[in-house]
Amino acid sequence: MKETITHYINGAALDTSSGRYADVYNPALGEPVARVALGTAEEVNAAVAAAQAAFPAWANTPPLARARVLFKYLELCQKHTDEFAAMLTREHGKTFTDAQGEVARGIEVVEFAVGVPQLLKGEYTDQIARGIDAWSMRQPLGVVAGITPFNFPVMVPMWMFPVALACGNTFILKPSERDPSASLLHARLLKEAGLPDGVFNVVQGDKVTVDAILDNPDVQAVSFVGSTPIAEYIYARGSASGKRVQALGGAKNHMVVMPDADMKMATDAIIGAAYGSAGERCMAISVVVAVGDAADQLVPELAKRTAALKIGDGMQKDSEMGPIVTLQAKQRIEKLIGEGVEQGADLVVDGRNYKVQGRENGFFVGGTLFDNVKPDMTIYKEEIFGPVLCVVRLPDVASAVELINANEYGNGTAIFTRDGGVAREFVRQIQVGMVGVNVPLPVPMAFNSFGGWKKSLFGDHHAYGPEGVRFYTRHKAVMQRWPNTASAGVQFAFPQMK
Ligand code: NAD
Repeated sequence: MKETITHYINGAALDTSSGRYADVYNPALGEPVARVALGTAEEVNAAVAAAQAAFPAWANTPPLARARVLFKYLELCQKHTDEFAAMLTREHGKTFTDAQGEVARGIEVVEFAVGVPQLLKGEYTDQIARGIDAWSMRQPLGVVAGITPFNFPVMVPMWMFPVALACGNTFILKPSERDPSASLLHARLLKEAGLPDGVFNVVQGDKVTVDAILDNPDVQAVSFVGSTPIAEYIYARGSASGKRVQALGGAKNHMVVMPDADMKMATDAIIGAAYGSAGERCMAISVVVAVGDAADQLVPELAKRTAALKIGDGMQKDSEMGPIVTLQAKQRIEKLIGEGVEQGADLVVDGRNYKVQGRENGFFVGGTLFDNVKPDMTIYKEEIFGPVLCVVRLPDVASAVELINANEYGNGTAIFTRDGGVAREFVRQIQVGMVGVNVPLPVPMAFNSFGGWKKSLFGDHHAYGPEGVRFYTRHKAVMQRWPNTASAGVQFAFPQMK
């Protein structure tokens, strides 16, 4: 009997009554290693009720006391980093060192969130009118939910709940059904850190649980990270039922390489950013825009390096890239590679039908490199979300900017050059939310905020950092007067400073 990954509601594990389960695979072995409960609407409603009941006491807990629980949780996360990382490698497939990096980036958000007494400070203006002072405060929303993707099962939930909890909200996490185990380790560590029952809950499942979250009137806000069609759906349905929604979607990230770039630096950056985590990162570089003769220098070197990638089980020490998360995802990627060939792109390195010795059933795709890709090809237009890199050749930086700005996504981008003037203009003109200059993956640190533009984010607020604090709180403006001042009498005119 395989292990069952359950819900976690009001401080206790709970199996589903739906009778529905999904297999959770180890993608390196190509075998199921556990099964995850696929919950019902009633189970979501029970989790929301528990979170609603826990809200008043948690919201009234002083911010410093809430921060102290998170300090303890922070220590526990550090202690359990390798346990989280091994879980990630087992269910997602990424290499163990990459998984450790993911946990570290999640922990940084907790390090930010423990500063919440400072972050929640309001503004104060003395004497806005005679005898009247004005001040503001930020208050928690209530029950908030996070719906997260498979590709960062530790870090992306940590973009959300540490900030939400620090601000005084209670939380429902609906993790990806592909790699759900980490959600329960978060729950266990939060409980051990002293978080009261009901403040953090996990509901496992698929569309049924997501829709129940979106429709529950007691859920005040939803944070979503995943693919663009689902992000758009979550934003529309969640906002229609009056919730605050931030929905981060997919991406097609371009890296521009100018002919004057440090080509060794650029090549190293491209290989890591395109093939790290098998390209299953929303900030992965999937398109290199080679300007002028940059491609002539880059492509032969990229071809050599792509063909030499060490691909294997993520637990093997020398693996640079692991498998794809599911068989369906592997088949979809291989189909897209086929379409690239049919539509006339030059397939320089072909990663289809890749086999790893001793892991013959694993869902591996080898590093794949296309040259002379055109913007009307499917491999350019679609987010492939695999180890497939497209090189587009363009004559100048102006046409590179035009291409990127015309793309429907706007998550991340980068330019590699030695020319400060070119880089500066690129940064100013580009219609993308996160930009790197000689930095391939400009993922903001926890004290800044993360978010793309265009179809990479629906909603007003980016994730974590100051934007996260704003998303998970409501601003209240207060004016106060005390009755030791003489009453000015009844006023029927609109209030003005006197
Ligand atoms: P996904 O959209 O398939 O799933 C995300 C979540 O939505 C999961 O919890 C899933 O259970 C749920 N879901 C799936 N289908 C649904 C439906 N029809 N109705 C309601 N809920 C549904 O995404 P994924 O495959 O898990 O993750 C990969 C995607 O996430 C990529 O597109 C990637 O770019 C994106 N992503 C974006 C960011 C970002 O910050 N912009 C970060 C990480 C991943």
